[in-house]
Amino acid sequence: MKILVINCGSSSVKYQLIDTDTETALAKGMVSRIGMSASVLTHKPHDRPEVKVSGEILDHIVAIEYVVAMLLSENHGVIADRSEIEAIGHRVVHGGEKFTESVLITPELMLELRNLIDLAPLHNPHNIRGINACQKTLPGLPMVAVFDTAFHHQMPPKAYIYGLPYVMYKRYGIRRYGFHGTSHQYVAEQASQMLGKPLEELKLITCHLGNGASVAAVDGGVSVDTSMGFTPLEGLLMGTRTGDLDPAIILHIMAREELTLHEANTLLNKHSGLAGISGVSSDMREIIESAHSNHSNARLAIDAYCYRLRKYIAAYAAAMGGLDALVYTAGIGENSPDVRECSCENLEFMGIRLDKAKNNQAVGQKADISADDATVRTLVIPTNEELVIARDTKRIVEAAK
Ligand code: ADP
Repeated sequence: MKILVINCGSSSVKYQLIDTDTETALAKGMVSRIGMSASVLTHKPHDRPEVKVSGEILDHIVAIEYVVAMLLSENHGVIADRSEIEAIGHRVVHGGEKFTESVLITPELMLELRNLIDLAPLHNPHNIRGINACQKTLPGLPMVAVFDTAFHHQMPPKAYIYGLPYVMYKRYGIRRYGFHGTSHQYVAEQASQMLGKPLEELKLITCHLGNGASVAAVDGGVSVDTSMGFTPLEGLLMGTRTGDLDPAIILHIMAREELTLHEANTLLNKHSGLAGISGVSSDMREIIESAHSNHSNARLAIDAYCYRLRKYIAAYAAAMGGLDALVYTAGIGENSPDVRECSCENLEFMGIRLDKAKNNQAVGQKADISADDATVRTLVIPTNEELVIARDTKRIVEAAK
């Protein structure tokens, strides 16, 4: 089955056309700068070079039209007719407490998704826009919503409740939800294969370190804790997000700098984290480069990043009462031996010990980077969130037939 996987942001659409028979991407790409000047579509067919097209892409509907045209194009396309696309899988960031697994998109579901906008005002509206755009451009195709939060739905109350009056949870759904669920789930399953042991018998810590970043404690295949919370702002330091913060700080800054809610949101989500501390960039590669040329705040940003990650790793081993394997994934986790080494420092007491040469060699590919005498395995596993979305979409569409 050929499934179009769509991930919509405020001004971007990421896509992959996945053949679920071979579990490979026939093409992948991204439309960026939607609604701005000089929008760009980057498209990579699996067997030909990447192409870039600029144009005026005013909204998500036009973006999806460009994507479909590219998939059909004579020179860069991978299908001959749009009827070859049999279903669409959408990444939806927040499923609240209601959506504990992927679901078929129906008019009723769209109403429920709109009700969830309150919980994820920065993300869900764009996901909904993407679903509407696909309904217009590819009418009649079955579509499935796959939630970032779903994998964490079995977190116990002691892990998800905040120290606020309980009425805030009952009234507004304020609790920890967790995100990046498809990635944590995928790499946990891959780890179980690599270790040759059923997921049910494993205690894993999965570190998804991309622009956004989160850690999950996966005990017997169930996410029992994760570092992102009510929103993706909590937890690790990220490219531009603060991660954990004393909540009083924001009240203090808002008062001192006379910030509006919108400005405060922007400060926490867009100007903080690695970018905020280093003053260099949100991109770990550039920060590492600057640190190598003795930029002290770049060094501080990396040290703070790795230190917090290390604390989460130890905390989650404690939460599970043990650990079989630690997994690194996403852009930084898959590609940065420096961050892996620095975040594992001082964890020898827990049985985590890296083989320096194996760690340095593991870039963007599956690898066991543990030293021979380590009692906890440390693995690098490239994530594939789109494949999880495609698999779920196929399963649900076939069940609905
Ligand atoms: P997204 O969350 O947007 O999907 P990615 O998973 O692609 O992001 O991760 C992006 C991050 O990965 C950036 O900080 C980038 O610098 C980092 N990254 C990619 N390659 C490397 C590398 N070789 N070394 C260090 N960091 C890297």
